[in-house]
Amino acid sequence: MGAKVCKFGGTSLADAAQMRKVDAIVRSDPDRRYVVPSAPGKRNPSDQKITDILYRCRAHAQQGIAFDEVFRIVEDRFLQIVMDLGLDLDLRPHLEKIKTDIGNGGQIENPTEGASPSPGGGDQAGAYAASRGEFLNGLVVAELLGFTFVDAAECIRFQADGSLDAETTESMIAQHLSGVDRAVIPGFYGSLPDGRLQTFTRGGSDISGSLVAAAVHADVYENWTDVPGLLMADPRIVADPKVIDVVTYRELRELAYMGATVLHDEAIFPVRKANINVNIRSTNEPEASGSMIIPDAAPIANMGNISGIAGRKDFTVIAVEKALMNAELGFGWRLLGVLEGLGISYEHTPTGIDTMSVVVADAQLEGKRDLVLQEIQRTCSPDSIDLYPHMALIATVGRGMAHFPGSAAKLFGALGESGINIRMIDQGSSELNIIVGVEAADFERALCAIYAAFVN
Ligand code: ASP
Repeated sequence: MGAKVCKFGGTSLADAAQMRKVDAIVRSDPDRRYVVPSAPGKRNPSDQKITDILYRCRAHAQQGIAFDEVFRIVEDRFLQIVMDLGLDLDLRPHLEKIKTDIGNGGQIENPTEGASPSPGGGDQAGAYAASRGEFLNGLVVAELLGFTFVDAAECIRFQADGSLDAETTESMIAQHLSGVDRAVIPGFYGSLPDGRLQTFTRGGSDISGSLVAAAVHADVYENWTDVPGLLMADPRIVADPKVIDVVTYRELRELAYMGATVLHDEAIFPVRKANINVNIRSTNEPEASGSMIIPDAAPIANMGNISGIAGRKDFTVIAVEKALMNAELGFGWRLLGVLEGLGISYEHTPTGIDTMSVVVADAQLEGKRDLVLQEIQRTCSPDSIDLYPHMALIATVGRGMAHFPGSAAKLFGALGESGINIRMIDQGSSELNIIVGVEAADFERALCAIYAAFVN
C-alpha cells in the first residue's frame, strides 16, 4: 500500500460543509493515510480564524482582561462543527481545560525539573493557546475519518531555543506512525525538550505536513488549499492566469521570493531533501490535478516556456560610478561592506566596467539613506553616486528558458512594444530566471506584457 500525506488548510476545514469535502477526498483514495489539519480558518472574508481568536484570548489573559466572551467564539465554532457533522465526540472537557490553561498562562505538559520559564525566549503561553486550534481540529478530523489521533506534541520536536529539531522529529514521527495505518497529526505545533508546546510561525501546518511526508517516505505530499494550484502570475494583476502544472522546488523558491505565496517558505525543505513531490490541490475542485512541485533534476518538459512570473515593488537602485573601477582591487568588496556595516542586505548587484549598482529593498534603507551615501563616499571615493527610488523587480522564472535561444528576446521585445523602459537586467547564472527592473509605475503593465508574450 502506498502512503500519501494530505495537509488541509484552514479554509478547507472552516465548517462542516468544508469538512465533508475533506472526508470525501480522503476516502476516495486509500493511499491517503496521513492527514495533517490546520485549525478552522475563515468561512468568508469578514470571518475570523480560530488561531487569531486564540492569540487574542492569550493577549487578554496576559493583560488580566476577562476572555470568556472571546473564548466562547472558539467553543461555539467547534461545538457547531461537531454537531453539524453528527459526530460522537465531546469536546467540552478539552475546551474547559484549554480555557483554564490559557487563564493560567499556558500549560506544562510533562515538566522536567528546572524547566526554564520561557524556552526559546518566546511567548510559550501564546504558543500553547494558538496550538489548541489545530489540536481540537485534529480530534474532530480523526473522528470524522475514523483515523487514529496522534498528538503532534509527541512527534514534532523543537530545541530549547525554539528552532526545529529536524533529526529527532523525523525519528519520532517514524516511530509513532509505524504500525499506525491511518492517522491524523495536527499541524502547526510540537513540543520543546521539557514538554511545553511550541508552534512554527504562522501558516506552519505546511511544515508539519512536509515533516510527516518526509518521515513516512510518502509517495506524495498533497497540500490541499482553497486555490486551484500555483498561478503563473498574480491574479490581482493578470486576469485569470493559468495554473502552473509542474514547477521545480528551485523555481518555486524564486517565485515565492518575488512574492508568489502558497506554501510556507520552510515547508519545502523536508520534502525536497527526501525527493518527494508536492501536489498543491484545491479542496473546492478536487477533480483538478493542481500544481506539482518536483525535484530540481527532473527532465525539462516545457522547453522554451516559462513556469511563472512574479514581482515586487519598492526597491531603490544605488548606482555608483568610478573611472577605472574594473582595475581597482576590492572596490565591490568595500561598497558591499558599507551596506553590511549598516545592517542592510541587498538583492542584486548589476555591474558595468566603471559602474556598479546595488538594488536594495526600500524597507532596508529606511532612515539610513544619507548615511549610506556618506559612507560610500568616504570608503569608495566614487566619481558619482545616484539613488533611483520607485523601482520594481520582475522575475520571469522557468528552467525551460535555459539554453533556449529567443527567451530573452521575447521578454525584452514584449516590454519594448509596450513602451516600458527596462532599467536593470539580471540573469541568474543558472538561467532559471531573468530579472528586470522597471519603474514602479510600469510594474503592472510590464507583468501583463510578459505574461501575454509567453503564455497567450
Ligand atoms: N493555524 C495556523 C495559522 O493560522 C497555522 C496554519 O494554519 O498553518 O497560522
